[in-house]
Amino acid sequence: MLSNIRIVLVQTFHPGNIGAAARAMKTMGLSELVLVNPRAFPDEEATRLAAGAQDVLDNARVVSSLDAAVMDCVQVVGASARLRSLPLPHYDEPDDMSFDVIQNAHTAPVALVFGRERSGLTNDEIRCCTHQVSIPANPEYGILNLSQAVQILAYEVHRAWRKRDMNGFEYQRPLEATPPSREQFGYFQEHLGRLMQQSGFLTQPHARTEEQLQTLFARAQPSRKELSLLRGLLSAFETHLPKQ
Ligand code: SAH
Repeated sequence: MLSNIRIVLVQTFHPGNIGAAARAMKTMGLSELVLVNPRAFPDEEATRLAAGAQDVLDNARVVSSLDAAVMDCVQVVGASARLRSLPLPHYDEPDDMSFDVIQNAHTAPVALVFGRERSGLTNDEIRCCTHQVSIPANPEYGILNLSQAVQILAYEVHRAWRKRDMNGFEYQRPLEATPPSREQFGYFQEHLGRLMQQSGFLTQPHARTEEQLQTLFARAQPSRKELSLLRGLLSAFETHLPKQ
């Protein structure tokens, strides 16, 4: 279950933070590290701060976009110190997040995503997420060091995992009741976008309407079964459109 929980670091500037994040992960039983365009990796400083977690660094995957890092995930939680910037479901407390994460990680990969030291995550990157989480902290200075934010969320996930039997964890959730992967959800969004154009519902390209509707569906968090019903509905409408 813990092996389905992936830590994704986006464009980390200081390699020492990558090493310290690897150590934070290993202490909490996590091993899957994905780096999106790190500035410097592999690097001596990363190795030095990883201490006994060199194996986590050795197995880390480097990819060139956040999309590529999370495509197969059914839940993607973006960690952000800032107030919610997009209307995604938001966990105000990390322990609210960790129960869902453990539940989902039973059957499929789940990602926790951390932003750049200086500028965090972009809005486009947050759009790749299904949820956001904040670590409540001093309102006057609530921004943690990247690896310390990883430590806190990794601790919470490990804690929920240890207590899974007490938390009413459902081991036998049917596959159709699980959330779709980001890739499956992306196909739905493409289909919806295409139909909005072809049906004449959207009169101007890049209208905010499209984004608003996409956000509505993201917020609804459909299961695989519900998403496949929606796709069926779109396909049925599509047959009534004049041929392009
Ligand atoms: N100036 C940046 C802060 C980046 S800190 C910003 O405004 O977003 C680097 C990363 O650590 C953040 O992108 C986030 O993933 C994580 N982080 C730091 N403090 C956090 C907090 N209080 N809650 C959740 N994540 C936090």
